[in-house]
Amino acid sequence: MGNSYSYEVVIIGAGPAGMCAALYAGRSMLKAIVLERGFPGGELLNTELVEDYPGFDRVLGHELAEKFYSHAQKFGAEFRNGVHVSAVRRREDGAFDIETMDGDIYRAQAVIITAGGTPVKLGIPGETEYAGKGVSYCAICDGAFFKNQVIAVVGGGDAATEEADFLTRYADKVYLIHRRETLRASKILQQRLFENPKIEVIWNTVVDRVDGDDQGLVKTLKLRNLQTCEERDPEATGLFIFVGFRPNTGIIADHVKHDDMGYLLTDPNMETSIPGLFAAGDLRSQLTRQVTTAVGDATTAAIAVEKYLKRIGDGNGEIIGTGGYSA
Ligand SMILES: Cc1cc2nc3c(=O)[nH]c(=O)nc-3n(C[C@H](O)[C@H](O)[C@H](O)COP(=O)(O)OP(=O)(O)OC[C@H]3O[C@@H](n4cnc5c(N)ncnc54)[C@H](O)[C@@H]3O)c2cc1C
Repeated sequence: MGNSYSYEVVIIGAGPAGMCAALYAGRSMLKAIVLERGFPGGELLNTELVEDYPGFDRVLGHELAEKFYSHAQKFGAEFRNGVHVSAVRRREDGAFDIETMDGDIYRAQAVIITAGGTPVKLGIPGETEYAGKGVSYCAICDGAFFKNQVIAVVGGGDAATEEADFLTRYADKVYLIHRRETLRASKILQQRLFENPKIEVIWNTVVDRVDGDDQGLVKTLKLRNLQTCEERDPEATGLFIFVGFRPNTGIIADHVKHDDMGYLLTDPNMETSIPGLFAAGDLRSQLTRQVTTAVGDATTAAIAVEKYLKRIGDGNGEIIGTGGYSA
């Protein structure tokens, strides 16, 4: 039998959204806790350089994460790291039970879920077998292992483009493999990529298989051109996969309204289809997923929670939102 705890609001996840929600909850003197399965920072810990957060021309991802963390703590926010939330259940009395993998239960009047997303897998032979042995989803974590080597990046969006450029700090050559003939990445990232002499873009091509050497490390890739069906087997000791993220909504998604991709729908106050359950950041259905949007969502969510708690405390009803769920 695990332990039981009681809070006014539980925040799930300590990425930018969770830490910002904690900052505002702390300032509002709410009894709040952030439950984080790893260490605070979220995707910032996988981001080398942030150049588009207002007030910072250039800041390392982990440095920005540390600033967010200490700022939230300064306002009294409580964090519990290494706590993996396994389920969120709404009770008949309107409160929530947040269950953890350790068997603990946190009861709260309101919840802000800021659990972000998880990288999408290619689902090809060798991907799982060679994960951590050449296959990676995190350039900043693993890039340094590939000094002076030839590696490949898969994808065509911002993450693939930015990380291919970053990985040339270590690798001698980086193939960017993309299944279409144009990139989806922002123009400035594309420009940097095309100007980088260490990068070769392989268009209209997919990776069909990852093959290893006799030591169990990635050695070659089986590529197929989608237009000509031509195959080739370039040598590459690393394969970095950046083909998208899935929202981490499994702990609640069955019960909450979401879009076709599983991203949570909220009203303008960040309240989901369940009264008292708020969502902020990358797991919310919206146009853009950035640190700025994550903290904007979180600010609104935390302030809306304060008003929600006051209303249910006053007995004036539960729903503060407009009831309209925007994508
Ligand atoms: C390579 C890369 C580069 C990027 N560069 C930039 C950039 O330059 N500028 C910019 O603005 N944005 C950038 N982004 C996007 C930005 O990092 C995200 O938009 C932002 O981190 C989203 O914050 P979040 O708090 O919603 O989610 P996340 O940062 O994903 O945080 C979610 C947190 O929830 C935790 N969690 C998940 N499930 C559970 C659970 N069940 N129990 C407990 N904890 C849980 C996770 O461990 C994680 O810490 C980049 C992203 C990537 C991948």
